[in-house]
Amino acid sequence: MSRVAIVTGGTRGIGAAISMALKEAGYTVAANYGGNDEAAEKFQQDTGIAVYKWDVGSFDACSAGLSKVEDDLGAIDVVVNNAGITRDGMLHKMTSEMWEDVIRIDLSSMFNMTRPLIDGMRERGYGRIINISSINGQKGQMGQSNYSAAKAGIIGFTKALAQETARKGITVNCIAPGYINTDMVAAVPEKVLESIIAGIPVNRLGRAEEIAHCVLFLADDKAGFITGSTIAANGGQYLA
Ligand code: NDP
Repeated sequence: MSRVAIVTGGTRGIGAAISMALKEAGYTVAANYGGNDEAAEKFQQDTGIAVYKWDVGSFDACSAGLSKVEDDLGAIDVVVNNAGITRDGMLHKMTSEMWEDVIRIDLSSMFNMTRPLIDGMRERGYGRIINISSINGQKGQMGQSNYSAAKAGIIGFTKALAQETARKGITVNCIAPGYINTDMVAAVPEKVLESIIAGIPVNRLGRAEEIAHCVLFLADDKAGFITGSTIAANGGQYLA
């Protein structure tokens, strides 16, 4: 029987590539999304992957959504915490709402998604938890104190939970992508993007499929000795 995987923000951008790569590798996949019904419906039609709408920033919504997925598809073995947003601005212009939205959706989602699943994974003695951080959580980024804090927090969460679950057959790892060619990066002004690419040794943006490849590697049964780690997939832009 194939393993069941849930991918948050799994209907667009990096998450869509992850959902499709997992499906192609034989996993039974559920793709969560937050609000863009049109993109989700198209994704479901194109790929045949089941989609589920809920807000990863809400613990109750995650608990209910995950129960539904498990009722439909079976116990979840692989969780990819990918959904994320940006609300950029210098701190002196940042509102508390911009701060709280990013912390809630990018960081609290780690707890909201993992807490309802952890008991089942511990009982079954197996789990793969893969969290999508960011280069900007590793190095900090001007105009992103909220996002950098959330993405750095994901790395701390990953290291702590990895130690808690190591003896239970559950691995917990992070991927820290550099700049990847998705809608999120399309929002960056062109001039800023040009200067970003000039600072990437491979001289291009990353592809969503390249992050999906990292997920497949960490999700594999054979990756059981890798836990608490962060894979930097950033074209050499930042060597942590
Ligand atoms: P996109 O903006 O292209 O897609 C974001 C996805 O997250 C969408 O599917 C969106 O759903 C979903 N989402 C947003 N808010 C919520 C919510 N509250 N509840 C559930 N789902 C939600 O982002 P990317 O693909 O570019 O980024 C994916 C992840 O990778 C993010 O965590 C991002 O921080 C990280 N990352 C991205 C980089 C990049 O260069 N693109 C670099 C480093 C890290 P919907 O379609 O409904 O809006």
